[in-house]
Amino acid sequence: MNLNVDYLNTDKVEELGGYLRNRINAEYTSTEPHSIYKPTYLNNDSRSKVKNVILLIGDGMGLAQIYSGITANYGDLNLAQFLNIGFSKTAASDSYITDSAAGATAMATGKKSRNRAIGVDSNFVSIPNLPDRLKPLGIKTGIISAGNITDATPAAFYAHQPYREMEKEIAHDYLNTPVEILIGGGPDLFNKEKIADSLRLKGIQFSEKWEDLDKIKTPFVLLNNAKTASIQKGRGDFLTSSFAKTYKSLQQNKEGFFIMAEGAQIDYGGHANVVSYVVTEMLDFDKLIGDALRFADSNGETLVVVTADHETGGLTLLDGNIKKGYVDGHFSTNDHTAVMVPVFAYGPHSMDFRGVYENTEIYTRILKVFNQYHKSK
Ligand SMILES: [Zn+2]
Repeated sequence: MNLNVDYLNTDKVEELGGYLRNRINAEYTSTEPHSIYKPTYLNNDSRSKVKNVILLIGDGMGLAQIYSGITANYGDLNLAQFLNIGFSKTAASDSYITDSAAGATAMATGKKSRNRAIGVDSNFVSIPNLPDRLKPLGIKTGIISAGNITDATPAAFYAHQPYREMEKEIAHDYLNTPVEILIGGGPDLFNKEKIADSLRLKGIQFSEKWEDLDKIKTPFVLLNNAKTASIQKGRGDFLTSSFAKTYKSLQQNKEGFFIMAEGAQIDYGGHANVVSYVVTEMLDFDKLIGDALRFADSNGETLVVVTADHETGGLTLLDGNIKKGYVDGHFSTNDHTAVMVPVFAYGPHSMDFRGVYENTEIYTRILKVFNQYHKSK
C-alpha cells in the first residue's frame, strides 16, 4: 500500500479485506497542532511548600496513547515537558487487570479494592477519600470529568458504594461529601432523584446550563450532557474552561485546594478500538495539562500530577509520521490491560513521584505533601 501499487494480489483475501476495512478506525491524521506551554520549572526541583495539588487522570492513557498524541501533535505535548516521572502499578485487589472503579479508589483512598468498588475496601467498608482527609486541613476540593459525573473515576472521589453500577446511590452520596465543585455530565439522575433540590436546600447551586459556568458561585454542581460529548462530537473547550472556573473559584481559599480533573474518554476510544477517538481525546487532555502547568508557574506552590488508572485497548503503534501528524494504531483488546502507567509530576515535591510503585501511592504521596504544610483544625 505504501508503494501506491494499483493491484494487490494475495491468497489471503479475507485477512486483507479485514485489514483494509479497518483502516478507517486504525488511522488518524492531525489537522492542526496545539501550542505547547514551555514551563519555567519554578520550584520543580525543590521540596518547598505545596499549597495546591492538581491531579489529572487520563482514563485509559498508557504510553502508546501518549505517543500517539505526541505524533499527532507533530512531535511535542505539554505532557512531554515534565522532568519527574514514575510508573504506577494498577492491579486491583481481586484482579490482575483493574477497572476504573478499583483504579480510582486506589488513588482516592490509598487502598486497593475490588473491581467495581467505589470508595470502599475489599470488604465493602467505606474508607475516607482525599477530599474527606483534606477537609480538616481546610483544603477545598473540586472534581471535573469529561464524562458522566457518576462514572467510576470521579465517583471514587466523593462516593462510597460497593458497585459502580449503583449510580443512584453514588449520586446521593454527593450530598455528604465535602467536595465544593462538581462539573461533568449526567444531570438527569440528579433531577430524577431530587438531588438537585436537596443541593439547593443546602445552599449548593445546581445547574445543567453550560452558560451558567461563568456566573455560578461556589459551592456548585454543574452537569451538562452536550458539553461532555466526545471531542469529535463537539465537546470543545469543556475541560480547560471547567478547570479555569474551578481554580479561580478555589484559589481564594487560604489553605489551598485539591482539584481532580479526568480526561474520561481516552478510555472510551480504547474500548471502541478507534484510533481517531483515542488521539483526539488525548490531545484535548494535553491542553488541560498545559493550563495546569501555566497555573502552577503563576503560583509556585502548586504540585501537578498527571497519571492514568490503567491502559485501555492494548494499543500499539504500527506506523506513524511525526512530520505529517499521522498515526497508525492497532488494538489487541477492547478492554483494559495490565501494563504500568506513567506518572508525571511538576512543581514543588514533584521528585516525590519518581520510581515504580503501586497506584495507592498517588493518594499516599499527595496526602503526605499536604500534611507537611497544613495543620489539622
Ligand atoms: Zn474503561
